[in-house]
Amino acid sequence: MDNGKQKWETVVGLEVHVQLATRSKIFSGASAAYGAGPNTQACAVDLALPGVLPVLNREAVCMAVKFGLAIGAQINRESVFARKNYFYPDLPKGYQISQYEKPIVSGGTLAISAGGDGGAQKNIGITRAHLEEDAGKSLHEDFHGMSGIDLNRAGTPLLEIVSEPDLRSAAEAAAYLKKLHTLVRYLEICDGNMQEGSFRFDANVSLRPRGEEKLGVRTEIKNVNSFRFIEKAVQFEVRRQMKILDGGGAVVQETRSYDSAADETRPMRGKEEADDYRYFPDPDLPPLLLEEDFIAAVRAAMPELPEQKAARFIRDYALTEDDAETLTAGRDTADYFEAVAAACGDAKSAANWINGELAGHLNRENLALGESKVSAQALGELLCRVSEKIISSKTAKEVLQRLWNGEGASADEIIAKHGLKQITDDDAIEKIIRQTVDAHPEQARQFRDGNEKVLGYLVGQVMKSTKGKAEPRKVNAVLREMLSE
Ligand code: ADP
Ligand code: MG
Repeated sequence: MDNGKQKWETVVGLEVHVQLATRSKIFSGASAAYGAGPNTQACAVDLALPGVLPVLNREAVCMAVKFGLAIGAQINRESVFARKNYFYPDLPKGYQISQYEKPIVSGGTLAISAGGDGGAQKNIGITRAHLEEDAGKSLHEDFHGMSGIDLNRAGTPLLEIVSEPDLRSAAEAAAYLKKLHTLVRYLEICDGNMQEGSFRFDANVSLRPRGEEKLGVRTEIKNVNSFRFIEKAVQFEVRRQMKILDGGGAVVQETRSYDSAADETRPMRGKEEADDYRYFPDPDLPPLLLEEDFIAAVRAAMPELPEQKAARFIRDYALTEDDAETLTAGRDTADYFEAVAAACGDAKSAANWINGELAGHLNRENLALGESKVSAQALGELLCRVSEKIISSKTAKEVLQRLWNGEGASADEIIAKHGLKQITDDDAIEKIIRQTVDAHPEQARQFRDGNEKVLGYLVGQVMKSTKGKAEPRKVNAVLREMLSE
């Protein structure tokens, strides 16, 4: 659908609402925590009682600046809060406070991997990021035919991040969103919880004839909170618009919603119904002026970003790009990896085990790395025993399983309890090999006659009688030597 041979080119621009992880709201001291009983966290300011005044939350400003610095944007020394006027039951003031003409952050880029090989990157422009307050929620369940209003969410701080129309496919849109999601969690400005609506987005989609510069008429798909659904919604919208344009028709500019069950978008409201928000600067809030010291302090407290971390992993631990990318997908994953690597002194095997065997256990139980039943310390120790040849990597998998099951606190404890130590005593191994050869004269003869394959069988027999505790490579070598005597 998005290949270069198509007549139409897909154009997508995204608006993302990131709920900032402050403790209190953007203009009041009420708690911004999720999940409390309805209206228990809505103070006089959030309820829009007469005579109250908003006071800007410094932490929300810090977070917006942090984000701006992370995407190499301009941090505007002056930004302005405006009133966006509209009527809705969950908006008691009758307006939402948002930044409009003068946002706190403007211009910046986010690199996404453009797909294809060679790990090519594509820079997506970010037009602006501005601070605003969230509205409350209308609850339509369980009210005996009536709707309820919960104003707990009213006044929760949001950072709205608006991209340039730089995305050229549904897949690129999803890649951009995933990258942004990782970034805001790295920065610890958002918990990233999509079910709770902490990270939600609108996609603007249009088509234009390939080679044409002028943008086509767009539709906007509102409020999606899943990477998979946004990809499907954009794909649907591209197909729908293509059909209209191919038939000689015109796309109508409108807002649409995505129904995931039916996998289709449907009109919500058209351009004629578009609101006139009558924006004007909020007289209760002076322009937000940022001092150099403030910005410098935020800059100094910036954490290492995903790309910097990946570059360091490649440089310092000699990881492949793929490994570096998966291991820096989350800060907890990166920290876990570094702890295992430090404990076992072998970064490559730490990476392999985390991305392989451990990932298998986590996936089976649908757990995040932060919920791993095996600590980084324990895995590190286990991998040490492998590199010291105390156990084979095959046995290590068994030990990991037992650690996972909670059968022991450490690899050493499990190795001791089940007698899993490899037999390193040469005499002992030779004795067992001698017995095996004597017990299989036919196979020994075949090998001497040039049948190489039979060696594998004999190695297997030795491993069986040692219950897997011999080192296969050694058994192989000794067997070969013994048989050619
Ligand atoms: P609005 O305020 O109506 O949402 P904006 O001009 O601020 O409109 O644009 C919102 C988003 O829509 C931005 O991400 C922008 O890149 C994107 N956008 C604008 N025009 C188009 C278009 N023709 N096709 C696709 N995306 C577009
Ligand atoms: Mg919009």
